[in-house]
Amino acid sequence: MIDFRSDTVTRPTAGMLKAMQEAVVGDDVFGEDPTINELERLSAEMFNMEAGLFCPSGTMTNQIAIKCHTQPGDEVICEALSHVYLYEGGGIASNSGASVQLISGNFGRITADQVAAAVNNKEDVHRPLSRLVSLENTANRGGGTCYNFDDIQLIKEVCLNNNLSLHLDGARVFNAIVAKKEKPEQYGRVFDSVSVCLSKGLGAPVGSVLLGNKDFIKRARRIRKALGGGMRQAGYLAAGALYALKNQVDRLEQDHHHAALIVEALQKKDFVGTIPPVETNIVLFEVKGRFTPKSLVEALALKGILAIAMSPTQVRIVTHLDISESMVKQTIREIESL
Ligand SMILES: *Cc1c(COP(=O)(O)O)cnc(C)c1O
Repeated sequence: MIDFRSDTVTRPTAGMLKAMQEAVVGDDVFGEDPTINELERLSAEMFNMEAGLFCPSGTMTNQIAIKCHTQPGDEVICEALSHVYLYEGGGIASNSGASVQLISGNFGRITADQVAAAVNNKEDVHRPLSRLVSLENTANRGGGTCYNFDDIQLIKEVCLNNNLSLHLDGARVFNAIVAKKEKPEQYGRVFDSVSVCLSKGLGAPVGSVLLGNKDFIKRARRIRKALGGGMRQAGYLAAGALYALKNQVDRLEQDHHHAALIVEALQKKDFVGTIPPVETNIVLFEVKGRFTPKSLVEALALKGILAIAMSPTQVRIVTHLDISESMVKQTIREIESL
């Protein structure tokens, strides 16, 4: 099977497994796992932030960040299809007791003007207190789209003027960094907190890291414990993540190239409608005419190709570490034959 359902399906590479086996570990709840400490140090350094916190998932890093930044009744501003709102089990409400104001973006991206218009007047007792803006880069439901960094900086200005914190759901921030030729430290300068998934395109089996200043991460560590996310000898997992950060970032370019090749093949088919501009490793396309998303996914599965019906009108294909060039070629042949 050629599995394009998600970039979470990757298996550890031989080099990564070796690094995991050889990891020096300790009890991380006591702060004594040297491999986790190194992962937190290195990732914070890459983003030029003060401190990091290794967590089991990106949902947990996002939810901890939101809880750190808000009080119950405060409002979080985010894009309508954002992961923090749509795919984290209602966590903003259940974990933080926070309200949400949704903005309809441009393929997952929102603008400074939209954020400014979404901020509630803090003198009006009817309205929740706007407290946090959460951005997603790349934007999953936008089709892996990237922000222009200038637009992020304009949003930051609105945040500074309105006493709002700014969080990045950077599940795929390295895809954006590679695609836009950016540097991780740009993000550290602008965001108050950044969540980075190590188990998506980077290819580690488990884990995300939350970055912020020392005081923020100290409070985040307490919340992680309360949510049951304190792990013990998880340095075995952190070793995989460290290996990924050191060896599997630049190769994301290949995933982006593979996605672009698949788009070319899709564009020639009468059953494919709109494809948002593909900038990274996600191809989210509209299906019409002879196929529905469900029937297309079934037809592809019969040919050994797995994709996901993402909405009543869209199918998603994601390229990743375990997709080789020959798999892409075979996929293109199968698409051509449909
Ligand atoms: C995958 C993902 C997350 C985190 O998901 P987990 O499965 O909990 O690690 C967060 N945000 C986005 C945009 C994602 O795609």
